Amino acid sequence: MGEPIIKVDRLTKRYGSVTALAEVSAQVQPGEFLALLGPSGCGKTTLLRLIAGFIDPSEGEIVIEGVSMNRVPPDQRPVNTVFQNYALFPHLTVRDNLAFGPRRKRVAREEIDKLVAEALEMVGMEAFSKRYPSELSGGQQQRIALSRAIINKPKVLLLDEPLGALDLKLRKRMQIELKRLHEQLRMTFIYVTHDQEEALVMADRIAVMGEGRIVQLGTGQEIYREPNSRYVADFIGDANLLDCEIDHEGWLRLGDATGERLFRPAEAGDQRRVTLMVRPEHVKLGEPKAESEAVLLKGRLRDLIFVGSGTKFVVALDSGHEIVAESSSNALSEQLEQGAEITLHWRAEHARVLNK
Ligand code: ATP
Repeated sequence: MGEPIIKVDRLTKRYGSVTALAEVSAQVQPGEFLALLGPSGCGKTTLLRLIAGFIDPSEGEIVIEGVSMNRVPPDQRPVNTVFQNYALFPHLTVRDNLAFGPRRKRVAREEIDKLVAEALEMVGMEAFSKRYPSELSGGQQQRIALSRAIINKPKVLLLDEPLGALDLKLRKRMQIELKRLHEQLRMTFIYVTHDQEEALVMADRIAVMGEGRIVQLGTGQEIYREPNSRYVADFIGDANLLDCEIDHEGWLRLGDATGERLFRPAEAGDQRRVTLMVRPEHVKLGEPKAESEAVLLKGRLRDLIFVGSGTKFVVALDSGHEIVAESSSNALSEQLEQGAEITLHWRAEHARVLNK
């Protein structure tokens, strides 16, 4: 990797006794689409606002293109922000909303016309330049807010839940549009969301945040396949999370050290309590075809859930644990009834042992 465009180093933000952000360090590459993902209150917006310069850090440093931003005011940073609530000027037309920034920078009129036309074209809104914000739908207003943010070609675009106010269908369409826009512009995007699917669809890398920290930073695939903690496994995608214990012989046992032996994890180490994670799509019903390396369990079918593209089977194990298996076929569901005896298995390589 080359020189990062943004480097944050042990960035901390305190409000009285509340630590909104705790010693966060990370680097963003030029042209990257990074999502900041986490539940409400985990510090995503605080990190974004620190980078934008709307608030000052309690400790730590932000460097953009090799220059420390600590004393640089927001309007002199090479960044621009798009908010959830659009923040368009209601008394100005679309054109004048877009022209506002360049005009303040005393750009010549013909040049402004050119910039406005370009920015509107980027978001497919050429026909709307004479309208007022109140004459636009939510999705259209957000497109205008976006085009206003990119008109002066910032190096970095900061997006704070920009699709949060839109209905699900429009949000999904805008996700694809935003991803395309990012590819076209080659700007660096930092995108705050609490929606894991949104992050997976758009971002090159995802920073999963919790309690003011980045818990894991990686590509969507890395985070989905190799979550570093129960917290991340639970946040991204569906997961079966089973309390287990590794006994003194290195066997993983369901529940505590008297529970059913599952397998011997490679990274067994000392006796300890752990969480076993296996994704529902990796849990298969029936006996494994080849005997090698599979974990086999028995239980009874508690629920069958039709999910359109397939079926979810909720299985209660004899030990009291519950496991969800997801099959992309609906065929099996017609042969099984609630209470039926079920054998299920998964390949050992699909399970992950997470430290508590
Ligand atoms: P959301 O998804 O709800 O916007 P977030 O992850 O963006 O949440 P932040 O807005 O960054 O969370 O807030 C992080 C923590 O800092 C929260 O506990 C919040 O209450 C606190 N906090 C944020 N701003 C202030 C402030 N101005 N004064 C006091 N506490 C604040």
